[in-house]
Amino acid sequence: MNRREALGRFMSVALSALFVRDERGDVPVEHGPFRKTDLVELVELDPTIRLDVRYATSDNFLKVRMYDEARAFLQRPAAEALVRVNQALRSQGYGLLVYDAYRPWSVTRFMWEHARSEWREGGYLANPAQGSQHNRGCAVDLTMYNLSSGEPVEMPTDFDDFRATAHADAVDITPAARCNRELLVAAMRPHGFNVLREEWWHFDFQSYREYPILDVGFASLCSDSPQPQLSLLNPSGVLEVAAHLVEHEVVTAVAGLVKQPTRGTSRRDHDVS
Ligand SMILES: [Zn+2]
Repeated sequence: MNRREALGRFMSVALSALFVRDERGDVPVEHGPFRKTDLVELVELDPTIRLDVRYATSDNFLKVRMYDEARAFLQRPAAEALVRVNQALRSQGYGLLVYDAYRPWSVTRFMWEHARSEWREGGYLANPAQGSQHNRGCAVDLTMYNLSSGEPVEMPTDFDDFRATAHADAVDITPAARCNRELLVAAMRPHGFNVLREEWWHFDFQSYREYPILDVGFASLCSDSPQPQLSLLNPSGVLEVAAHLVEHEVVTAVAGLVKQPTRGTSRRDHDVS
């Protein structure tokens, strides 16, 4: 389609997003501008990065499957930085094992709505009203595996363990767990990933504020997909689909009209799981 047709289609979709939002009133909105979204699949960049996507199974804190596919995406600068971390760790005999990366916003909302109240009150879950760094494609949950055995290394806790021993500065843990945790944190930090104080497995990429909250399913991110899938119940997804239709600058300008500031710096505004 030409630019005029594309713009017309975009405006139609964007207006639909406005009406959907008015009906649901729950999708976080933000002012742009944001960098162009470029979510890439980690194993496409480096097949030695392994996956254990718990949310694609029932082996997670909610005991229900939340993803259709066990896949992991990050915004390209974050993904490329993570590849450099993985390559650096290989010389020390380890590889990265990823639990979760980009997470559609609707999954964050699902987690919030179905979590125990003490998890929410304790700040262990991202409030969907603010969204999370995972929603921006700039957070990753991960551990390390041993290259020789293929087994995950000992860490202070399992993934998504909401106890104090999961804190990145916990001391009541085994020496091996402490050593491995500190090795992971030290490997991630020089490449722009900062560990969340409450969770040894969660790392935010330094430029996460430059990207918008997204709610696009993994299938829509396939490079071989003819065009993005459109979720009519999903305003962020609608805007993201529109981003595929016209140039980024136009999307940013219009998206800015329907978005409001949502960022904060408190612990509760920080995504955790
Ligand atoms: Zn996380």
